[in-house]
Amino acid sequence: MAKCVLVSGGAGFIGSHVTVELIQAGYDVIVADDMSNCDLTCFEGVKKITGREDLPFVKMNFCEEESVNALFNDHQIDAVIHFAAFKAVGESVAEPLKYYGNNLVSFMNVLQAARIKGSAVLFSSSATVYGEPDILPVTERSPRQSATSPYGNTKQICEDMLRDSVKAYDGLRGIALRYFNPIGAHPSALIGELPRGVPNNLVPFITQTAIGKRECLSIFGNDYPTPDGTCQRDYIDIVDLAKAHVCAVSRMLDGKMKEDYEIFNIGTGKPLSVLELVNAFQKVNGVRLNYRFAPRRSGDVTAIWADPSLANRELGWKAERSIEETLAAAWAWEQKLANK
Ligand code: UDP
Repeated sequence: MAKCVLVSGGAGFIGSHVTVELIQAGYDVIVADDMSNCDLTCFEGVKKITGREDLPFVKMNFCEEESVNALFNDHQIDAVIHFAAFKAVGESVAEPLKYYGNNLVSFMNVLQAARIKGSAVLFSSSATVYGEPDILPVTERSPRQSATSPYGNTKQICEDMLRDSVKAYDGLRGIALRYFNPIGAHPSALIGELPRGVPNNLVPFITQTAIGKRECLSIFGNDYPTPDGTCQRDYIDIVDLAKAHVCAVSRMLDGKMKEDYEIFNIGTGKPLSVLELVNAFQKVNGVRLNYRFAPRRSGDVTAIWADPSLANRELGWKAERSIEETLAAAWAWEQKLANK
C-alpha cells in the first residue's frame, strides 16, 4: 500500500510543487491549508498536473490542536511535511507575536501528533539560519547566527524543537531542509508563486515588472564587496527543490537515516548576483527589464550559497534544472497569470 504524506500548507508555492512530486513518486498525499495566504489556484493546478481530481484537501489551521489531532487520528499519516507558516520578514518585525504564535504553535501541534502516531517529520527550514556567513559556501556544520527577524528566529526555534523532540522521544525522527532561494514555476505553468501585494522576493518582482504590473525593479545595493557589487544568492529551481522532499521522505520512511535528526542544505552550490540573474532573465526571455540601483535593503546579507554535497551524497539528490529553464518557467507562469 502507498505510504501517506500530509503536506501542511500544501496549497502554497512550495507545498503545491512538493505535492506534485510526491504524487508522481507514488505517495498518497493529503493537502491541508488554512488558505490564509493563498487561493485555490495552485491546488487546482496540482490536480490538473497529476490527474488526481480526488486529491484530498482539508481546510484547517494547524494552531488548532484538536483539528490537528483529529486529522492524525482519522488517517494513517506516515510522514508530515510542515510548510504551514507565515513568511514575510518585514511583517514579522512589525508583528512578532503573530509570527511566534502561528509558526511555533502550529509546529508544536504537528510534533505532538507525530510523536503519538509515529509519523516522520520534515521541517521546511531556511538558509536564513546561517545569517551572514564568514566562510562560503556554507555546509550544514557552518554556525547558525542570531536571527535578524522574528521570522528567521521561528525557523531556528522550530529546528531546535525538532532536534530536541527527536532526542527525547523514542521513535520520533525528522529532517530539516534548509532552502536557499527557491524560484521558478512548474514547467506546465499550472502552478507557481502568487505573491499578495507588492512582492518582497526578487524573481516575482522581476516577472511583474516585465509584464508591466510594476514600473521598475529596484536592485537593492550595488556597493557590496562582490564581483559586480550586487548581492549573491543560491537560486534553486522550485521543481528541483520539491524533488529533494521526495528524497527526504523516502529516506525517513525506508529506514535510510543515519541519525534520527538530520539537516540538509538544498541549493545548487552556485552563487549568482542580482545583476547576473536580471541579465539571465532578459536574455533567456528576450524581454527588457526596467531597473535601477537603489540603496541596500536592511537585513540583507552580502553573499550566501550552499555546499549541497551532503544532500547530493546522502539524499541522492542534485539540482538539475538550469537557471535559464527556471527563469523561462517563471516568465511563462507570469504570462499565464496575466492572461487569466
Ligand atoms: N532584491 C532586489 N530587489 C527586489 C527584491 C530583492 O534587489 O525587489 C535582492 C535582495 O536585496 C537580495 C536578492 O535580491 O540580494 C534576493 O532577495 P529575496 O528577497 O528574493 O530573497 P532573500 O535572499 O532575501 O531571502
